[in-house]
Amino acid sequence: MEPADCIFCKIVKGEIPCAKVYEDGQVLAFLDIAPVTPGHVLVIPKAHHADLFALPDSLGAALLAAQKRVGRAVMAAVGASGLNVQQNNAASAGQVVFHAHYHLIPRREGDGLRLWPGTPYADAAGMAAVAAAVREALASLE
Ligand code: AMP
Repeated sequence: MEPADCIFCKIVKGEIPCAKVYEDGQVLAFLDIAPVTPGHVLVIPKAHHADLFALPDSLGAALLAAQKRVGRAVMAAVGASGLNVQQNNAASAGQVVFHAHYHLIPRREGDGLRLWPGTPYADAAGMAAVAAAVREALASLE
């Protein structure tokens, strides 16, 4: 059930305009209105799903295929040598629009956008403890 105020559902229905670059039966891709780099595209499922965790696994192949196809095209169109795929889930992770979407962000050498470097774990035991906690959480899901 889609929320009445979902801006991406309104784009899918044509109630709000977008700079569409790709569409198939399940997926829509359009330019982000506030690009992180030139050519920044959003790939969304046409059906409303709030985030990654709400996405049906059955949509995965269509979304991945669109990311690859549109990603290659946007890199060629803007002359980029790389591409970041970013996907935010929940406000703490920077999600602002609660209709699942993938950001395709074209990259060029020296473009100044900094996503990394990360901070290494302080020690091997700390890293092993995090990995064990994730494996335990996965086991409790199964
Ligand atoms: P997120 O922070 O992952 O939820 O990203 C939401 C993205 O949607 C932001 O990068 C916005 O610039 C973009 N956005 C919001 N409204 C529109 C719109 N009407 N058309 C295109 N992009 C939009």
